[in-house]
Amino acid sequence: MRVAFLGLGIMGHPMAANLVKAGHELTVWNRTPGKEVPGASAAATPRDAARGAEVIWICVSDTDAVEQVLFGENGAEESLAEGMIVVDSSTVSPAATRDFATRVQMRGADYVDAPVTGSKAGAETAQLIFIAGGKPATLERIRPLWTAMGKDLRHMGDVGMGQSSKLAMNLMIALIYEGFAEGLTLASKLGVEPDPLISLIQASMVRSGVVDYKAPFVLRRDFSPNFPLRLMYKDIQLMLEAAHQVRVKLPALETVAEIYEVACEEGHEDLDYAATLLLLEKWAGLEVRGTASTG
Ligand code: NAP
Repeated sequence: MRVAFLGLGIMGHPMAANLVKAGHELTVWNRTPGKEVPGASAAATPRDAARGAEVIWICVSDTDAVEQVLFGENGAEESLAEGMIVVDSSTVSPAATRDFATRVQMRGADYVDAPVTGSKAGAETAQLIFIAGGKPATLERIRPLWTAMGKDLRHMGDVGMGQSSKLAMNLMIALIYEGFAEGLTLASKLGVEPDPLISLIQASMVRSGVVDYKAPFVLRRDFSPNFPLRLMYKDIQLMLEAAHQVRVKLPALETVAEIYEVACEEGHEDLDYAATLLLLEKWAGLEVRGTASTG
């Protein structure tokens, strides 16, 4: 299929590369020039990338960025035509998503929100899960694309439901990781070694996919970004905003939001969100070190 791919960050770059690998005809665009995808053509603006495409696939940071690439100066909207499909794999506001969809549909195109789970490793190995909102027939049309980038697509309902579901998932990830980091910090202060503790956790009912993914990084003290802390903080703000709109109280998340706020103030925003551990360590006066990091 002819695809315009907009946004070549940690997630977008490997996703676009997997589309090329699957034989699709790609034109890519990134705000900051210089991020090429071998086998794809590069465009100077979202409008140019989208011209003549069957599908416009977006993966940028946040709600403002999606609005910018779609409706800003030289935005993809200017090239929208009857029958085209816009798919957004960024994690953004569900309410804004419904508004974007309406504006796109007014131009005769269709809209799908399809945020992803699987992180950098899932994007690189085409093992993402797409969490989609939109019409079943539209999702069927883009099947050759999501199967090239992922292992599954779950249809959660109308446009916006993908984003709403994704926020619920990330709420749990943020709290699970925080629980892991706090447990690890307390145990370390009490004299427990992290490696046997993690082995015990994963052998028990406390076991978690989040710990499976994050523990090796933590034990190596590798806080380079898989999912940048600033983006998880962005998602936490989206969750709190959505909760406020529908009058839901999220007390644990409100507390975790404060930790992310301090982590950003301390300059950790471009590290992985696993770096929230650094604050707990600072407050506890210790460093959690696995055998992997001590050699
Ligand atoms: P990233 O590495 O920070 O990349 C962000 C991308 O958005 C870059 O291409 C950036 O362009 C672009 N961008 C930012 N602001 C823009 C604007 N105003 N106009 C146009 N482009 C703009 O982020 P990522 O990790 O790929 O994440 C992308 C999306 O996927 C986010 O919504 C994130 O929450 C979600 N997500 C991430 C993960 C993960 O594990 N990383 C997992 C699931 C979902 P520049 O190169 O010019 O900065």
